[in-house]
Amino acid sequence: MLNIVLFGAPGAGKGTQSDLLVAKYNLNHISTGDLLRKEIADQTELGKRIKSIMDSGSLVSDDIVVEMIDKAIASDTQGILFDGFPRNVAQAETLDKLMAKYGRSITCMVSLDVPNDELIRRMLERAKISGRSDDNEETIKNRLKEYENKTLPVASYYEKQGKHIKVNGVGKVEDISASIIAAIEKL
Ligand code: ADP
Repeated sequence: MLNIVLFGAPGAGKGTQSDLLVAKYNLNHISTGDLLRKEIADQTELGKRIKSIMDSGSLVSDDIVVEMIDKAIASDTQGILFDGFPRNVAQAETLDKLMAKYGRSITCMVSLDVPNDELIRRMLERAKISGRSDDNEETIKNRLKEYENKTLPVASYYEKQGKHIKVNGVGKVEDISASIIAAIEKL
């Protein structure tokens, strides 16, 4: 069973590549960003608590996302594509423990490599149509800072486990997908 972590900065194209991978390998797509946005849209207690944090571009607390991920793994029978999680080293350690609890493990971590100026360009472009309240210039800067400080070390975490696959995230969507698939097939 494939359990893949899709990794990359905000704007790296995780959403786009997730859709393709999920369809190809029949995986469950677990996006913490989508799960959190749903809480906000549904105006749940949790949604009300996290809205201002997400609007500022900072990470919400680990407890909140870990609980969501635990539930998602518990109910999955087909293999998972994790998108937007783990977002820091503590979450990566927790994910390994959770997977072990269900007798499973992470197969690999695929990271999409995109330079910062291209990331900013894409997010500002997306802002025009996404309607996402965190797609504005100030929040984008904070999201990139959070990514560099907290999320980037997650790549080394998987590198040490020999599970890190780095893919060039600039170019045609189909070419990027083909590189990801080629790397997965080689495993
Ligand atoms: P992007 O990667 O494009 O910034 P996401 O949809 O993955 O977008 O995340 C949007 C926001 O949701 C983040 O800025 C953060 O506030 C919150 N979030 C998503 N995943 C996590 C996570 N694993 N841990 C903490 N916060 C998260």
